[in-house]
Amino acid sequence: MLETIVIGGGPYGLSATTHLRKAGVETKTFGSPMSFWRDHTPAGMMLRSALSASDIASPDPGTTLAAYLGGRGAVPEGPVPVSSFVDYGTWFQTRRLPDIDRRHITEILAEQDGFCVVAEDGETFRAKRVVVATGIAGFAHRPSAFEYAPSSLVSHSNDNPEPARFRGRRVGIIGSGQSAIETAALMSEAGAEVEVIMRAARIRWLHGAVSLRDQLGPLGRVMFPRTDVGSPPLNQVIARPALFRTLPAAARVSIDRRTMRASVAAWLKPRIDGVRLSTSRTVVRAEPRNDQIGLALDDASVRKFDHVVLATGFRINLARLAFLNRELLAALRRTAGYPHLNYGFESSVKGLHFIGATAAYSFGSVTRFVAGTTYSAAALSAAICSSSRRVPNTVAHPESALTSEDLTHA
Ligand SMILES: Cc1cc2nc3c(=O)[nH]c(=O)nc-3n(C[C@H](O)[C@H](O)[C@H](O)COP(=O)(O)OP(=O)(O)OC[C@H]3O[C@@H](n4cnc5c(N)ncnc54)[C@H](O)[C@@H]3O)c2cc1C
Repeated sequence: MLETIVIGGGPYGLSATTHLRKAGVETKTFGSPMSFWRDHTPAGMMLRSALSASDIASPDPGTTLAAYLGGRGAVPEGPVPVSSFVDYGTWFQTRRLPDIDRRHITEILAEQDGFCVVAEDGETFRAKRVVVATGIAGFAHRPSAFEYAPSSLVSHSNDNPEPARFRGRRVGIIGSGQSAIETAALMSEAGAEVEVIMRAARIRWLHGAVSLRDQLGPLGRVMFPRTDVGSPPLNQVIARPALFRTLPAAARVSIDRRTMRASVAAWLKPRIDGVRLSTSRTVVRAEPRNDQIGLALDDASVRKFDHVVLATGFRINLARLAFLNRELLAALRRTAGYPHLNYGFESSVKGLHFIGATAAYSFGSVTRFVAGTTYSAAALSAAICSSSRRVPNTVAHPESALTSEDLTHA
């Protein structure tokens, strides 16, 4: 019987494991390291988050993204290439978690004093606690108009449609967020004829809060927390997940919605010059015909494409996680697909924790981003240590606002 099993080899799984182990909690971790970033994002993509908001939290010094890139003389002037972030995560994993078990987990079974976790080859592992850190890849959202469209003609941005494959072809992109506009830029640069169709009336451009943070000195550091999620004043609440959790549910949902409205980093603006934008339009029907797909829009116009990319985001719904069986799902208190979590990211099933985007209903939008690893890993390990009566020796980043009260409370 292990103390803790972590499922997930992305930023959340890696940071949680390093914190738990540092605190002396015996932890085994499953997952393919950095697989989301490596396998689900197109070549040439950049991080939208600032470099300083993209550290995988670690209780040990010298593991920030800036330290990693600085050590290789590769700190970029502008946005960080996703390929550099994948290298960083892989370096972090190799140094801190070389024994990660890459097997996929197919089922979690509740037992009397813990859980039985089943790996893809049928081998079973028992643990008192399980931490689910499996990210958003399983929650890709496809609008109903595309329900029956074949994958040869319609892919989700999560399916990693490689831009170079679309040279000389007509591509429709649905969406108005970072993923839609960056995919449009990459496809257009690769030689595709691109049209973006969006419900929004315009693109919401985001002008880097981090540069303002630097320009405004001490005031900038107060106005723009390092987390780099949301605009003032909501960014202050988002940077304090413990405070966020104490707000009424309606306020939490409203803040999360406003923070997560589709928006795009302003550095992409010059890269979509050759891209046609159809704003304030909804796709009402998709009609595959031979090797093309026709889209009927709500203004009665029709478009024909060789391929359509749905950059339509992700909708968290625990019921879509294949490793959660009916018994566990029935015992999980949920709202709109998200679990209700206590201060230690523990669900209504004792010993079953959720970190990353699935924690956003309780802890806010910061848990949808790498910046949220700082608070999550520290609070999770403090809660687990406290329940097994250990003193946590992990330190939270000051701006993550993990107070001593949280730690004692945990
Ligand atoms: C296009 C795009 C751009 C983004 N850009 C940014 C950005 O600039 N900055 C930012 O902070 N965030 C960004 N995000 C959000 C990003 O997804 C999260 O910040 C980050 O990946 C969260 O890390 P995670 O560990 O929760 O999940 P992931 O990185 O998705 O890791 C999940 C892990 O779980 C493993 N796993 C899944 N299922 C199983 C299973 N059954 N058994 C075993 N292992 C399993 C996977 O192999 C993987 O290792 C972006 C998202 C998208 C879609």
